[in-house]
Amino acid sequence: MEAPLLKYPFSEVRSLWLDGGLVPFAEAKIHILAHTLHYGSGVFEGIRSYKTPEGTAIFRLREHVERLFDSAKTLRIELPYTVDELCGAVVETVRDNELGDSYIRPIVFRGFGSLFVNPRLSPLSVAIAAWPTRPGRYLGEGSQENGIEACVSSWRRLSPGSLPPLAKATANYLNSQLIKMEAEENGYNEGIGLDEHGDVCEGSAENVFLVQDGVLLTPSLAGAILAGITRDAVLTLARDLGIETREEGVPRSLLYICDELFLTGTSVEVAPVRAVDRIPVGAGRPGEITRRLQTELLGIARGEQPDRHGWLTPV
Ligand code: PMP
Repeated sequence: MEAPLLKYPFSEVRSLWLDGGLVPFAEAKIHILAHTLHYGSGVFEGIRSYKTPEGTAIFRLREHVERLFDSAKTLRIELPYTVDELCGAVVETVRDNELGDSYIRPIVFRGFGSLFVNPRLSPLSVAIAAWPTRPGRYLGEGSQENGIEACVSSWRRLSPGSLPPLAKATANYLNSQLIKMEAEENGYNEGIGLDEHGDVCEGSAENVFLVQDGVLLTPSLAGAILAGITRDAVLTLARDLGIETREEGVPRSLLYICDELFLTGTSVEVAPVRAVDRIPVGAGRPGEITRRLQTELLGIARGEQPDRHGWLTPV
């Protein structure tokens, strides 16, 4: 079979890290009977690197790799590497591909061994891919400047008794796919999933923040969400700016009457929401606190402001 013609951004990728070292892009393949393909046995991460005045830097690399280990632990996976080794492997992958602004995808998965449901009979693999990206466009051109249109999804987010929301497990993303397809096919940029009680949970790949009377609110970790690393960064920056923050249950109806609403995540960074279910949020444009947090976060990530929390790893 001929290798497919690669389109941008994958045409730019020279190498991937696979099970201990870099391999050429075209050689990074797995078998049709890989366990992960059939049963979703895997955990992964999504990380960004940014072009800064001092060269490429990876945003909160250690926290992402630590979350990968936590996700693996939840799935009873013992990784044959240390956190330091995988941090080093991520840096090596970004460096070898001479990337500036990039998206980095580490993934741990079960390959071909057995198709019994028990994943332990199939060999574990760890891979890291990275490719160039243009930040700020995940939810569409201009989405960070002008805000996006969101809907409340008809799909509920993960029930914590069925799947572990704190683990970034590949299988959890079937729910995300349902939310995302429904939202886009109904003309929205993104869907917000509710939890099993009908309270606000998270987007298909983003945490949710609201501003009400100057207070920043976001669902607590007890609300069956992923502990977003951007969420943590935004909470930290809000406290730095003297903004009161609360992590608590957020009722759906607050989405329609809050002053400001935004989504956070490695892909979306800080994406203002200008309307939910076609009801304008506040004045129907990005709010003041959203803007300040967005500017602060991107300023640090792009190396335009001092890295006062030690969030950047130089490549
Ligand atoms: N929730 C879900 C379900 C996600 O997939 C993501 C993206 N990893 C987030 C929240 C945001 O997490 P982070 O800020 O660490 O990217």
